[in-house]
Amino acid sequence: MKHFPIFLAVEGRRIVLSGGGDAALAKLRLLLKTEAHLTVFATAPAPEIEGWAADNRLRLVRRAMVPGDTLCATLFYAADEDQTEDARTSQIARADGALVNIVDNLADSQFITPAIVDRDPVTVAIGTEGAAPVLARAIKAEIEARLPVTLGALARIGKAFRKAVVVLPMGRRRRDFWADYYFQTGPRALDQGGEDHVKDVLQRLLRKHENTVVRQGRVAFVGAGPGDPELLTLKARNALDGADVVIHDRLVTSEILELARREAILIDAGKEGFGPSMSQSDINALIVEHARNGAHVVRLKGGDPTVFGRLDEEIDAVSEAGIDWHVVPGITAASASVAAIGQSLTKRGRNGAVRFVTGHDMKGFADHDWRTLARPGEVAAIYMGKKSARFIQGRLIMHGADRTTPVTVIENASRPDQRVLSTTLDRLPADLAEAGLTGPALTFLGLAPRAAEAALVQSKQELA
Ligand code: SAH
Repeated sequence: MKHFPIFLAVEGRRIVLSGGGDAALAKLRLLLKTEAHLTVFATAPAPEIEGWAADNRLRLVRRAMVPGDTLCATLFYAADEDQTEDARTSQIARADGALVNIVDNLADSQFITPAIVDRDPVTVAIGTEGAAPVLARAIKAEIEARLPVTLGALARIGKAFRKAVVVLPMGRRRRDFWADYYFQTGPRALDQGGEDHVKDVLQRLLRKHENTVVRQGRVAFVGAGPGDPELLTLKARNALDGADVVIHDRLVTSEILELARREAILIDAGKEGFGPSMSQSDINALIVEHARNGAHVVRLKGGDPTVFGRLDEEIDAVSEAGIDWHVVPGITAASASVAAIGQSLTKRGRNGAVRFVTGHDMKGFADHDWRTLARPGEVAAIYMGKKSARFIQGRLIMHGADRTTPVTVIENASRPDQRVLSTTLDRLPADLAEAGLTGPALTFLGLAPRAAEAALVQSKQELA
């Protein structure tokens, strides 16, 4: 981030602008929404500016700026659309201690003005650091459409009512009240009877919430998918949005954790599938403890929670404690990995079954039905198989697997640093971690990337 977005307190502060043409008008239309004292220096002001001056909405000085004109100004806009004049005025403003923006000159500006969605007091600022104004406008249009115009009024009334809400205990009870107001009762009341009606309804709503019993805690076991935040389900996003506590694996990416409600407590349970840094019983106890305190707990697991995630142990602990729970499925690493190499998990004529196996289990390298896995056409997704590559290779060859069986390793599937290693069973490195694969990796037995597969078929034909 080259520019850090903040909301500046400008009520009663000075904002100065030099210029009287189109650029000045565009900025002034925004600045007039604020409660700042505006001063405009312009030798030839547009009629709109004259009008605003006549209405006392800004102070108009009909001359060029001179040193001292920006004293005590918080912000200064150089909007003369003339390089020399902009450089001159901005130098004056900088000397007077104001933050300077030169219209259409990102490099010499100390701040930039974002695209704004105005539902005052709710404002959304959109910035692209000057990279893509088109994008900023498109995002603005989308947000405009999504935020009802009545939102501003609801927020204003809500803000004035904040003090009264201290009768509700902090945390969930208060949040429930506000959620009820903003998303249900408030909009309905505003529709039915306008702002005065909303104020009455707020009083009644508060009384209702004062008398409601505390809600029970609950647990959602949520799949976070393979890493790309866009591969989260809507249900997962909503669960994160409503979570009080998020207990997550190490596999869950920071981009996804950022989607959790800002007040949510994030706890890293540190598991990467095996070798837990927090014991499973500690994790179970933690989930139960938070839910017992009335929290909405999201137990966030990489991929799909039902695949190699020790989900059952956690469900047992939660249900033994009499706590409500449900599972939100996610996209498992195997699905993301085949997507990365353009293959299917199952294919008519090749494999009517696919095995999900683990390279590791509680006892070390995991044993499997090697004879079956060694059969031609067999497809298996090997999770947690980085360290056990040599073991798996040995077992398969021992049980008669074709040494040239394609093997594909997909590291960091769906993430920006995704890598694909396409090889054959006999060439598979003994230890994938030592071979430089540091991220989570999934090994596919019996699948090659689509293009490589075509090449393989071709080379077999050439050999024949
Ligand atoms: N529940 C998870 C699996 C947990 S076991 C799921 O459904 O995906 C952890 C293993 O999953 C890792 O050792 C790795 O083999 C695999 N894995 C998880 N995320 C991955 C990713 N983005 N790319 C490749 N493999 C991944």
